[in-house]
Amino acid sequence: MGTLEVVKWVSRLPWVAPRRNDESGMKNAQLTAIESSSADAILIYDLDRIITSWNPAAERLFGYTAGEMIGQSYLSFVQFDKIDESNDLRERAWSDQTTLNFRTVRLRKDGSAVPVSMNISPIYDLSGAVNGVSAIYRDMTELKDSEKQNALSAAIVAASNDAILSYSLDGKITSWNPAAKRIFGFSAEEMIGNPYSVLVPAEKAGEAAEFPERLLRGEIIANHETVRLRKDGSEVPISLTVSLIYDLTGAVIGGSSVARDLTELKKSEMRNALLAAIIASSKDAILSFNLDGIATSWNPGAERIFGYSADEIIGQPPLVFIHSDKSDESADILERIRNGQPIEHFETVRLRKNKSAVPVSMDVSPIYDLTGAVVGASAIYRDITELKMAEQKFRDILESSPDAMVIADKTGTIVIVNSQTEEIFGYHRDEILGRSVELLMPSRNRAIFPGYWERFFSDPKVELMGGGLQLYGNRKDGQEFPVEIRLSPVETANGVLVVATIRDVSVHKNMIRQLNEMNALRSEFVAIVSHDLRSPMTSINGYAQELLNEWDATDEAKKIDYLQIIVRNTEYLAEFVEDVLQVARIEAGEYTFNIRPFDIRLLVQRVLDETASAGDGRRFEFTVPSDFPNVLGDEDRQWQVLTNLLSNAVKFSPSGELIVVELSCIDDFVQVVVTDYGIGIATDDMSKLFMKFGRVSNHGVLKTPGNGLGLYICKTLVEAQGGRIWCESGLGRGSSFIFTIPSAT
Ligand code: ADP
Repeated sequence: MGTLEVVKWVSRLPWVAPRRNDESGMKNAQLTAIESSSADAILIYDLDRIITSWNPAAERLFGYTAGEMIGQSYLSFVQFDKIDESNDLRERAWSDQTTLNFRTVRLRKDGSAVPVSMNISPIYDLSGAVNGVSAIYRDMTELKDSEKQNALSAAIVAASNDAILSYSLDGKITSWNPAAKRIFGFSAEEMIGNPYSVLVPAEKAGEAAEFPERLLRGEIIANHETVRLRKDGSEVPISLTVSLIYDLTGAVIGGSSVARDLTELKKSEMRNALLAAIIASSKDAILSFNLDGIATSWNPGAERIFGYSADEIIGQPPLVFIHSDKSDESADILERIRNGQPIEHFETVRLRKNKSAVPVSMDVSPIYDLTGAVVGASAIYRDITELKMAEQKFRDILESSPDAMVIADKTGTIVIVNSQTEEIFGYHRDEILGRSVELLMPSRNRAIFPGYWERFFSDPKVELMGGGLQLYGNRKDGQEFPVEIRLSPVETANGVLVVATIRDVSVHKNMIRQLNEMNALRSEFVAIVSHDLRSPMTSINGYAQELLNEWDATDEAKKIDYLQIIVRNTEYLAEFVEDVLQVARIEAGEYTFNIRPFDIRLLVQRVLDETASAGDGRRFEFTVPSDFPNVLGDEDRQWQVLTNLLSNAVKFSPSGELIVVELSCIDDFVQVVVTDYGIGIATDDMSKLFMKFGRVSNHGVLKTPGNGLGLYICKTLVEAQGGRIWCESGLGRGSSFIFTIPSAT
């Protein structure tokens, strides 16, 4: 602005209206100088709001030059929504009032708003009437900023999770935020004005005392880990950042501390350290992988089990340690993990680096990021080689048992069976596993089973099921069989199981029955033998005594009679003893046969001749066939059979009756038939014929007592030589005894 313009400008100032005296002129000049050099915008407007004065600061503040504004309406730089406010201020001035430090905003030439503080005063004319208004504007932009800053700082301090506190040079607390209360337990009221040192444990007093010195040396104390005391006396681990507070002159007037509570961090650090130690020392393989199946961690256990080092696995192609034929399985696992489903105790096989297979039990859990999305999985593999071997051993033991072994759990569900169970009960194991043991018992016993089972599990110990009662097993085909069941509890990882050893005792029962029968037979045998021996011996003894005592008094004919009786009985005894011995030898398996071909026709003829010479004029009929094959057998034994059959025929048919012997060839056998026309045998007795001591009633017509061993011996001898023997007869119509011998051709 040029001098002229200044003069012109000043001359327009109402309160510096030209005065005649010098004093007022001086004053005006001073005012003009003040006005033009003022840092505050100064403007004057008249009663019509027309600006009459606009100083350089106004130009700086609002961007309009004096030339642009003088003569313009004041309202041109009042924001539309501030016009009322402006009118009020004008009214106040009109009515003689001054407004001080009024905060508002005004518009700059560029349209931006500027915060201002206004002092508004009325201007009087010489008559003392108000004829204008002066307005002084102070730019509040910077002040506003620093106020904002302060408010923000205060909010941050209040909202901070860290304790923020300040203290004066004498160590007294001057500010204390809410987090400080949370962390240390003291309220602001309790702490402000009190010494900071109450927070410092004795062993940290030196450290705290050194801080100001260190800071003054220019050291930075930031994130310093230490401990402080809580109100309750306990220690709290903190991370401390300390700074000095200076006044405007640069003098230190105090300090401030920001303390972060490290309790949780320390806890999680400890947890992490613990976890890391566990993972490192675990015998199990612990690893993690991302959703592409690429390993992201690999512990020493994994290295031990699979043989790969962490470097060989981490970041390598997906799951190289997976058995090649299990790749479908690992795709399934990844799929399940993607869906957030964990996998528990999954037994499978993995491949070691050296290509050997290792049986493992795996547990896999998804890993989530902070948003809850699955990003990978952690897997724990347990080497179950030994477990599998033990299981195999256990199975081998189960399989080696001659008894059915059924392993069931507390609910009676069958978990393991051996192959004997399949054999004895007639089920395939797949039909039994997972079913109730009730399946294997007769339906009538099932009702009492649950109670019994519960009682067993309340005090499990080895016991015989049913306590001596006869129990029965139920086969798939519904057949029942007697069983003996021994229950033994076994502790397993999955709780107590019971091993039921089931013995099929039907064989045993049969044996007992046979044994009883044999015992009965033996007693019968002893009875018969002693009777059959005793009567001829009594007879021999009686007649011999008679002869001895009455030798002289007995006539010659009687003596011969007696002696003949003695001889007959002796022969009978000899024959009997021979038969019994033969039976004993046969039964002991000590009998040997001398098998070779011979001509049966000659043998039949010889036996007929011998029988005829001993017989009492029986008629024998035997047509010797020409061109007849040799037989294969023991000739002496066949002689014995023929002799026995012919002597029976003689014994049980009337003298003078015909006895016929016939030979024929049937297939590879020669068949010999001895037929008599004697008393015959009742149909009921036929079954006893070939049994030991199988004497039949013959309806009282038996004259010569036999020992009942003959046919039994015949049958044994014939069968031992590969033949068969049987009888066709009927009471009163004679009998045919038929036996076969293998032919030699
Ligand atoms: P035994 O030495 O007593 O004759 P066997 O075993 O030879 O013993 O005969 C058993 C029984 O069979 C005889 O006691 C007899 O009752 C009956 N028996 C055997 N052969 C004949 C037959 N040809 N006719 C009628 N009964 C016979």
